[in-house]
Amino acid sequence: MGLFKEISCAHCGNKAGMLSRLKLKDGNYLCWDCQKIIPDSIRDSWAALNGAENYQGLLDYKKKSDSEYKPQFNGTFSYGEIEIDENHGLFRIEYDDTLIYSFANVVDFDFGFVAETVKEGIFKDKVKGKSIGYIVLSNPFASYSGTIKNREKTKGNLNFLKTKVVYDHPDGLLAFEEKFIVLYCMFNRTDNSFSSQYAGGQQRTELDKALSLFMVDDITELTIEKLNNIRRRLMKSFHPDNGPGEIDEKYAKKINQAYDLLFEAL
Ligand SMILES: [Zn+2]
Repeated sequence: MGLFKEISCAHCGNKAGMLSRLKLKDGNYLCWDCQKIIPDSIRDSWAALNGAENYQGLLDYKKKSDSEYKPQFNGTFSYGEIEIDENHGLFRIEYDDTLIYSFANVVDFDFGFVAETVKEGIFKDKVKGKSIGYIVLSNPFASYSGTIKNREKTKGNLNFLKTKVVYDHPDGLLAFEEKFIVLYCMFNRTDNSFSSQYAGGQQRTELDKALSLFMVDDITELTIEKLNNIRRRLMKSFHPDNGPGEIDEKYAKKINQAYDLLFEAL
Protein backbone atom coordinates (compact mmCIF):
# COMPACT_ATOMS: atom_id res chain seq x y z
CA MET A 1 0.00 0.00 0.00
CA GLY A 2 1.10 3.52 -0.59
CA LEU A 3 4.40 3.22 -2.39
CA PHE A 4 3.29 1.02 -5.26
CA LYS A 5 0.09 1.91 -6.99
CA GLU A 6 -1.68 -1.10 -8.44
CA ILE A 7 -1.93 -0.87 -12.20
CA SER A 8 -4.54 -2.64 -14.25
CA CYS A 9 -4.40 -3.81 -17.84
CA ALA A 10 -5.94 -1.36 -20.29
CA HIS A 11 -7.51 -4.23 -22.24
CA CYS A 12 -8.82 -6.81 -19.78
CA GLY A 13 -8.74 -4.83 -16.54
CA ASN A 14 -6.79 -7.48 -14.62
CA LYS A 15 -3.86 -6.54 -12.45
CA ALA A 16 -0.79 -5.76 -14.55
CA GLY A 17 2.18 -6.96 -12.48
CA MET A 18 5.18 -4.66 -12.34
CA LEU A 19 7.64 -7.17 -13.80
CA SER A 20 5.43 -8.54 -16.55
CA ARG A 21 3.45 -5.57 -17.80
CA LEU A 22 4.12 -3.79 -21.06
CA LYS A 23 4.02 0.00 -21.20
CA LEU A 24 2.39 1.45 -24.29
CA LYS A 25 2.90 4.71 -26.15
CA ASP A 26 -0.06 6.37 -24.41
CA GLY A 27 1.15 5.45 -20.91
CA ASN A 28 -1.32 2.58 -20.51
CA TYR A 29 -0.23 -0.96 -19.70
CA LEU A 30 -1.02 -4.45 -20.94
CA CYS A 31 -0.89 -7.45 -18.60
CA TRP A 32 1.21 -10.49 -19.49
CA ASP A 33 -1.76 -12.51 -20.79
CA CYS A 34 -2.82 -9.76 -23.17
CA GLN A 35 0.66 -8.98 -24.48
CA LYS A 36 1.80 -12.53 -25.08
CA ILE A 37 0.20 -12.68 -28.53
CA ILE A 38 2.82 -10.12 -29.64
CA PRO A 39 5.96 -11.91 -30.82
CA ASP A 40 9.19 -11.02 -28.98
CA SER A 41 10.69 -9.86 -32.25
CA ILE A 42 8.27 -6.92 -32.55
CA ARG A 43 7.00 -6.46 -28.98
CA ASP A 44 9.01 -3.41 -27.95
CA SER A 45 8.44 -1.59 -31.22
CA TRP A 46 4.72 -2.34 -31.17
CA ALA A 47 4.46 -0.90 -27.65
CA ALA A 48 6.46 2.18 -28.65
CA LEU A 49 4.22 2.88 -31.65
CA ASN A 50 0.76 1.96 -30.32
CA GLY A 51 -1.60 2.89 -27.51
CA ALA A 52 -4.28 0.84 -25.77
CA GLU A 53 -6.81 1.80 -28.46
CA ASN A 54 -4.75 -0.07 -31.06
CA TYR A 55 -4.83 -3.39 -29.19
CA GLN A 56 -8.10 -4.47 -30.81
CA GLY A 57 -6.49 -3.98 -34.21
CA LEU A 58 -3.69 -6.29 -33.16
CA LEU A 59 -6.22 -8.92 -32.06
CA ASP A 60 -7.92 -8.60 -35.45
CA TYR A 61 -4.57 -9.04 -37.17
CA LYS A 62 -3.84 -12.13 -35.08
CA LYS A 63 -7.20 -13.56 -36.14
CA LYS A 64 -6.38 -12.95 -39.80
CA SER A 65 -2.92 -14.43 -39.35
CA ASP A 66 -4.33 -17.55 -37.65
CA SER A 67 -7.25 -18.15 -39.97
CA GLU A 68 -5.87 -16.99 -43.30
CA TYR A 69 -2.07 -16.87 -43.30
CA LYS A 70 -1.13 -19.79 -41.05
CA PRO A 71 -3.11 -22.50 -42.90
CA GLN A 72 -1.65 -21.53 -46.27
CA PHE A 73 1.88 -20.79 -45.07
CA ASN A 74 4.34 -23.12 -46.71
CA GLY A 75 7.91 -21.89 -46.46
CA THR A 76 9.90 -22.07 -49.68
CA PHE A 77 13.06 -20.24 -48.61
CA SER A 78 14.65 -19.42 -45.34
CA TYR A 79 17.61 -17.42 -44.24
CA GLY A 80 18.60 -17.45 -40.60
CA GLU A 81 15.57 -16.52 -38.57
CA ILE A 82 13.37 -15.47 -41.47
CA GLU A 83 11.28 -17.92 -43.44
CA ILE A 84 9.53 -16.86 -46.62
CA ASP A 85 6.58 -18.33 -48.48
CA GLU A 86 7.15 -17.07 -52.03
CA ASN A 87 3.87 -18.41 -53.42
CA HIS A 88 1.66 -16.54 -50.98
CA GLY A 89 3.85 -13.51 -50.28
CA LEU A 90 4.13 -14.29 -46.58
CA PHE A 91 6.98 -14.53 -44.12
CA ARG A 92 7.69 -15.12 -40.48
CA ILE A 93 10.52 -13.68 -38.52
CA GLU A 94 11.11 -16.49 -36.04
CA TYR A 95 10.01 -20.09 -36.26
CA ASP A 96 8.01 -19.92 -33.06
CA ASP A 97 6.41 -16.58 -33.85
CA THR A 98 2.70 -16.38 -33.19
CA LEU A 99 2.16 -14.04 -36.14
CA ILE A 100 2.77 -14.40 -39.84
CA TYR A 101 3.35 -11.28 -41.91
CA SER A 102 2.37 -10.34 -45.43
CA PHE A 103 4.66 -8.65 -47.93
CA ALA A 104 1.63 -6.46 -48.69
CA ASN A 105 2.19 -4.79 -45.31
CA VAL A 106 5.92 -4.18 -45.57
CA VAL A 107 6.55 -0.44 -45.62
CA ASP A 108 10.31 -0.29 -45.45
CA PHE A 109 13.27 -2.58 -44.96
CA ASP A 110 17.03 -2.66 -44.95
CA PHE A 111 19.54 -5.47 -44.62
CA GLY A 112 23.21 -5.30 -43.82
CA PHE A 113 26.31 -7.17 -42.78
CA VAL A 114 28.28 -6.44 -39.63
CA ALA A 115 31.85 -7.74 -39.72
CA GLU A 116 33.11 -9.07 -36.42
CA THR A 117 36.43 -10.75 -37.17
CA VAL A 118 38.79 -10.36 -40.08
CA LYS A 119 41.47 -12.97 -40.75
CA GLU A 120 44.24 -12.12 -43.12
CA GLY A 121 44.56 -14.36 -46.11
CA ILE A 122 47.20 -14.55 -48.84
CA PHE A 123 44.90 -13.35 -51.58
CA LYS A 124 41.75 -12.26 -49.78
CA ASP A 125 40.86 -11.73 -46.16
CA LYS A 126 38.24 -13.88 -44.51
CA VAL A 127 35.54 -11.82 -42.86
CA LYS A 128 33.15 -13.31 -40.31
CA GLY A 129 30.14 -11.54 -38.95
CA LYS A 130 26.39 -11.43 -38.83
CA SER A 131 23.57 -10.40 -41.11
CA ILE A 132 21.19 -7.90 -39.65
CA GLY A 133 17.81 -6.71 -40.77
CA TYR A 134 15.25 -3.98 -40.28
CA ILE A 135 11.66 -4.39 -41.44
CA VAL A 136 8.83 -1.90 -40.92
CA LEU A 137 5.26 -3.20 -41.12
CA SER A 138 2.06 -1.23 -41.49
CA ASN A 139 -0.11 -4.05 -40.13
CA PRO A 140 0.59 -4.86 -37.39
CA PHE A 141 2.11 -1.42 -36.99
CA ALA A 142 5.53 -2.43 -35.69
CA SER A 143 9.09 -2.93 -36.77
CA TYR A 144 11.66 -5.66 -36.45
CA SER A 145 15.34 -5.08 -36.09
CA GLY A 146 17.82 -7.73 -35.19
CA THR A 147 20.23 -10.43 -36.21
CA ILE A 148 18.85 -12.56 -39.00
CA LYS A 149 21.83 -14.83 -39.16
CA ASN A 150 24.94 -15.21 -37.08
CA ARG A 151 28.30 -16.49 -38.27
CA GLU A 152 28.15 -15.49 -41.90
CA LYS A 153 31.34 -15.51 -43.94
CA THR A 154 32.47 -13.38 -46.82
CA LYS A 155 35.72 -12.31 -48.42
CA GLY A 156 37.35 -8.95 -47.89
CA ASN A 157 39.86 -6.78 -49.72
CA LEU A 158 41.95 -3.92 -48.45
CA ASN A 159 40.82 -0.61 -49.84
CA PHE A 160 43.19 1.39 -52.02
CA LEU A 161 44.70 3.22 -49.04
CA LYS A 162 45.27 -0.19 -47.40
CA THR A 163 43.68 1.05 -44.22
CA LYS A 164 40.35 -0.65 -44.26
CA VAL A 165 38.94 -4.00 -45.30
CA VAL A 166 36.07 -3.68 -47.72
CA TYR A 167 33.74 -6.59 -48.29
CA ASP A 168 30.60 -7.64 -50.08
CA HIS A 169 27.49 -9.02 -48.46
CA PRO A 170 27.81 -12.78 -47.94
CA ASP A 171 26.20 -14.89 -50.68
CA GLY A 172 23.43 -16.07 -48.36
CA LEU A 173 22.42 -12.53 -47.48
CA LEU A 174 22.53 -11.46 -51.13
CA ALA A 175 20.21 -14.28 -52.19
CA PHE A 176 17.86 -13.47 -49.33
CA GLU A 177 17.85 -9.73 -50.07
CA GLU A 178 17.06 -10.34 -53.71
CA LYS A 179 14.12 -12.55 -52.90
CA PHE A 180 12.83 -10.13 -50.28
CA ILE A 181 12.99 -7.19 -52.69
CA VAL A 182 11.19 -8.99 -55.50
CA LEU A 183 8.46 -10.22 -53.16
CA TYR A 184 8.08 -6.71 -51.77
CA CYS A 185 7.68 -5.36 -55.30
CA MET A 186 5.24 -8.12 -56.27
CA PHE A 187 2.94 -7.99 -53.29
CA ASN A 188 3.25 -4.48 -51.90
CA ARG A 189 0.07 -2.54 -52.51
CA THR A 190 0.28 1.10 -53.48
CA ASP A 191 -3.28 1.65 -52.21
CA ASN A 192 -2.14 0.95 -48.66
CA SER A 193 -3.22 4.14 -46.91
CA PHE A 194 -0.74 3.68 -44.10
CA SER A 195 2.22 3.24 -46.36
CA SER A 196 1.45 6.42 -48.28
CA GLN A 197 1.06 8.23 -44.98
CA TYR A 198 4.36 6.75 -43.84
CA ALA A 199 6.11 7.89 -46.99
CA GLY A 200 5.02 11.46 -46.38
CA GLY A 201 2.05 11.25 -48.74
CA GLN A 202 4.15 10.11 -51.66
CA GLN A 203 3.00 7.12 -53.61
CA ARG A 204 5.76 4.98 -54.97
CA THR A 205 5.74 5.09 -58.74
CA GLU A 206 6.33 2.06 -60.94
CA LEU A 207 9.76 3.48 -61.72
CA ASP A 208 10.58 3.72 -57.99
CA LYS A 209 9.60 0.09 -57.60
CA ALA A 210 11.67 -0.94 -60.58
CA LEU A 211 14.66 0.91 -59.14
CA SER A 212 14.31 -0.83 -55.80
CA LEU A 213 13.92 -4.19 -57.52
CA PHE A 214 17.20 -3.54 -59.31
CA MET A 215 18.69 -2.25 -56.04
CA VAL A 216 19.74 1.17 -57.28
CA ASP A 217 18.88 4.47 -55.65
CA ASP A 218 18.88 6.59 -58.74
CA ILE A 219 18.44 6.03 -62.45
CA THR A 220 21.67 7.95 -63.12
CA GLU A 221 23.60 5.12 -61.42
CA LEU A 222 22.53 2.72 -64.15
CA THR A 223 24.11 1.84 -67.45
CA ILE A 224 22.77 -0.67 -69.94
CA GLU A 225 25.59 -3.03 -69.03
CA LYS A 226 24.81 -2.74 -65.33
CA LEU A 227 21.11 -3.20 -65.99
CA ASN A 228 21.80 -6.40 -67.93
CA ASN A 229 24.09 -7.73 -65.21
CA ILE A 230 21.55 -7.13 -62.45
CA ARG A 231 18.79 -8.74 -64.49
CA ARG A 232 20.95 -11.81 -65.06
CA ARG A 233 21.66 -12.06 -61.33
CA LEU A 234 18.01 -11.58 -60.34
CA MET A 235 16.88 -14.22 -62.82
CA LYS A 236 19.47 -16.64 -61.48
CA SER A 237 18.37 -16.17 -57.91
CA PHE A 238 14.84 -17.22 -58.83
CA HIS A 239 15.76 -20.33 -60.67
CA PRO A 240 15.78 -23.21 -58.22
CA ASP A 241 17.63 -26.40 -59.09
CA ASN A 242 14.41 -28.35 -59.46
CA GLY A 243 13.56 -26.54 -62.65
CA PRO A 244 11.34 -23.59 -63.47
CA GLY A 245 7.89 -23.53 -61.94
CA GLU A 246 4.87 -21.27 -62.12
CA ILE A 247 6.27 -18.92 -59.51
CA ASP A 248 9.47 -18.46 -61.48
CA GLU A 249 7.47 -17.28 -64.48
CA LYS A 250 5.72 -14.75 -62.27
CA TYR A 251 9.08 -13.48 -61.02
CA ALA A 252 10.55 -13.44 -64.47
CA LYS A 253 7.64 -11.35 -65.72
CA LYS A 254 8.03 -8.87 -62.86
CA ILE A 255 11.78 -8.61 -63.42
CA ASN A 256 11.34 -8.12 -67.18
CA GLN A 257 8.67 -5.45 -66.72
CA ALA A 258 10.97 -3.54 -64.40
CA TYR A 259 13.82 -4.04 -66.85
CA ASP A 260 11.80 -2.55 -69.73
CA LEU A 261 10.78 0.42 -67.62
CA LEU A 262 14.35 1.15 -66.57
CA PHE A 263 15.68 0.57 -70.07
CA GLU A 264 13.29 3.20 -71.43
CA ALA A 265 14.16 5.63 -68.64
CA LEU A 266 17.92 5.41 -69.30
ZN1 LIG B 1 -4.88 -7.86 -19.88
